[in-house]
Amino acid sequence: MCRDENSNSDPRWRDLLEGRWRAQVKEVTELSLAYHAAAEAGEDQDEARRLMHRTVAVRRDLADTEEALRRLAVGEFGRCERCESAIPSVLLLDVPESRYCPRCAGEPASARHTDTVGLSLG
Ligand SMILES: [Zn+2]
Repeated sequence: MCRDENSNSDPRWRDLLEGRWRAQVKEVTELSLAYHAAAEAGEDQDEARRLMHRTVAVRRDLADTEEALRRLAVGEFGRCERCESAIPSVLLLDVPESRYCPRCAGEPASARHTDTVGLSLG
């Protein structure tokens, strides 16, 4: 019913992305604090290392989310970066940071894009 192809500027995407952004900022902050505490205590290096890896991963997610917000701001959100077709809403709802349509995302990355992580549909 709602097959509006111009739904890219729909405010719900902003809400969704900002919600994720806030959660990720919070998580990065908490992880950073925990990491520094663990590193300073110097007793549990494994734990510190684990926290650091986790922090790096969440920071990457955060960067993806910020990139999606940027694309939203310039009106490119929801459009495949490779073939420029619309990315299905169901996919965006699940992974709002998606940069490629399922077809392009599914193709072996012969692309110059070195890094296509974060595109897995789970
Ligand atoms: Zn595509």
